[in-house]
Amino acid sequence: MKRILSLLFLLLLLLLGFMTYNSMQFSSKQISRESIPALTVDEATIDRFSNALQIKTISPEQPEDFDSLAFFQFNDYLKSTYPLTDSLLLKKRFGQFSHLYQWEGSNPDLKPVILMAHLDVVPVIEENLPDWKHPPFAGKVVNDTLWGRGTIDDKIGVIGLLEATERLLEAGYQPQRSLYLSFGHDEEIGGLQGAKVIVDYLKDQGVEAEYVLDEGGTISQGIIPGITKDVALIGVAEKGYVSLELSVKKEGGHSSMPEKESAIDLLAAAIVKVKSQPFPAKLAGPIAGFIEYLGPEMGGFNRFIFANRWLFGSIITGVYEKTGSGNALVRTTTAPTIFNAGVKDNVIPQNAKATINFRILSGEDSNSVMERVKALINDPRIQVKKGRMQSEPSKVSSINSFGFQQLQGTIAEVYPDALVAPFLVIAGTDAKHFEPIAQDIYRFSPMIINPSNIKSFHGLNERIAISDFKQAVRFYHRLIENSTQE
Ligand SMILES: [Zn+2]
Repeated sequence: MKRILSLLFLLLLLLLGFMTYNSMQFSSKQISRESIPALTVDEATIDRFSNALQIKTISPEQPEDFDSLAFFQFNDYLKSTYPLTDSLLLKKRFGQFSHLYQWEGSNPDLKPVILMAHLDVVPVIEENLPDWKHPPFAGKVVNDTLWGRGTIDDKIGVIGLLEATERLLEAGYQPQRSLYLSFGHDEEIGGLQGAKVIVDYLKDQGVEAEYVLDEGGTISQGIIPGITKDVALIGVAEKGYVSLELSVKKEGGHSSMPEKESAIDLLAAAIVKVKSQPFPAKLAGPIAGFIEYLGPEMGGFNRFIFANRWLFGSIITGVYEKTGSGNALVRTTTAPTIFNAGVKDNVIPQNAKATINFRILSGEDSNSVMERVKALINDPRIQVKKGRMQSEPSKVSSINSFGFQQLQGTIAEVYPDALVAPFLVIAGTDAKHFEPIAQDIYRFSPMIINPSNIKSFHGLNERIAISDFKQAVRFYHRLIENSTQE
């Protein structure tokens, strides 16, 4: 007995030793570079951004509400505001309002880089207007902040990239590697007329990109548990999307003599079954990378846990599961979004319908989601079919590629105090359309997101600090230089 105990004790010591060793070997993946002199970004630049915000390029919920006038105006605005880009680069338009610019590099052996953004914005809900501190389409500067729909999603990308390009052209810069700028006009409604068509064209031309950059990750400030520094989150993958429509038909009748089960009862029970058995939590590809990059930057106990995730995986997922945003990183999420049945208080309806929206983690797909849901419901009376819009989870891009290195290096130069980490983007972007022409696709917007402005994405009071926008122009300027020189 004593022998067994001392053997157990020895094993425990060995295990502790091994885990401490792991924790010590958990070395930093951060790089440091000499920070570069800040490029001057003047008032006129801010005005040009403000003017772009005043053009209401809204992707409406209903196609018949599309206001082409605003989009024609945006076409003209780009042409007149960025004359060098307009005249010196090869340009092409798709679906009338999406733009592709090509800057030919001097070395045709190098694969091109594609930098993307989208020029459409989501609508502003009429009844919310009084809650906007400044009108959403006025492009108003108040103190050190620029207000308006599109400041962070995603005219910062369009204008930031064009400002950077125009400056480089003005300075006579000649890239060695070719550069494309791709601006879609319908990202908020799926990108099928814009980004998708641009990719079809590039594929036709035999273009294969060295890497692609789109929106998605940001510089997160005070949001990640256990980290006090700013963290530049580079999205290396995005989740998939599918909605399942559940319906049931059952004899209705008068509510004075109800049968044992009604359509509403059956459907409600089905939703409870799906909701009460969430998809399994896991630390899939991008989140494993996130832990590799941020674990070593954490202190004591957190670092010990992250360094030994082979053992503490469920503790880590347990922490993430506690919040909606954390939970979204570790599993395919289940969100009932529509529930319809009945029209009159004393009539039992014959039909009931509901929709559940799923955001799919890599490793699963829309078919496996549907199969799992059918098995959980396990009731042939409930019909299950897929909704109209869907996308599969993206591939996971490499963190050892040329593209990732350029992003990490440029971030180190322009934001010297920020850490860098790969990340999973939980929303959809236009980037997913580029998979046919690129192995490595990254999602990162150079802007700071903190607890005070995170809700303004697609929400109220969208805004950006002027200093953040200036940094964005500097970031794109430097990224183009870094990525297009040998
Ligand atoms: Zn966006």
